[in-house]
Amino acid sequence: MATIEHRNGVIPFWREKTLEEMNPDEWESLCDGCARCCLLQLVDEETGTLAVTGVACALLDPQSCTCSDYERREFKVIGCLRLTPELVRTLDWLPVTCAYRLLAEGHDLPVWHPLVSGDPQSVHRAGISVQGKTVSENDIDPDDLVDWIISSDVEEKTIK
Ligand code: SF4
Ligand code: SF4
Repeated sequence: MATIEHRNGVIPFWREKTLEEMNPDEWESLCDGCARCCLLQLVDEETGTLAVTGVACALLDPQSCTCSDYERREFKVIGCLRLTPELVRTLDWLPVTCAYRLLAEGHDLPVWHPLVSGDPQSVHRAGISVQGKTVSENDIDPDDLVDWIISSDVEEKTIK
């Protein structure tokens, strides 16, 4: 697969700039559209273990895998955050595949990232996104959330 670096012959911004140096458009484009951060999570009060569920935030459109009110998300949903470089470095629940987390930890973007592939669908084809894999929190009994756990701790997936 030809990378964006090879196509343009220039160093891509995410290798050249720190998170703090990126402009708003660059920052926004880092999001790969996986929506894995839109899955509800449970924390074991005794062990502190984090469990990810297959239940998605009510605002997630499961087919397009996008937020249905992205601009007002932090006002509509308690706990939905507008990421900043500082937050990215402190949140321990971001998926290991999350582009912000990868760059904050000194990794490069993976080949399936839309910025690298040049194709917004590549994150879905690679099976990284939750497209078509979730149930909405509107459609389950909150007391049954534990039945929807799909992994313990932040899921370790192949990221290259
Ligand atoms: S996990 Fe990271 S890359 Fe994926 S949708 Fe959330 S912010 Fe974007
Ligand atoms: S409000 Fe939107 S961005 Fe935030 S968790 Fe829900 S679907 Fe995801």
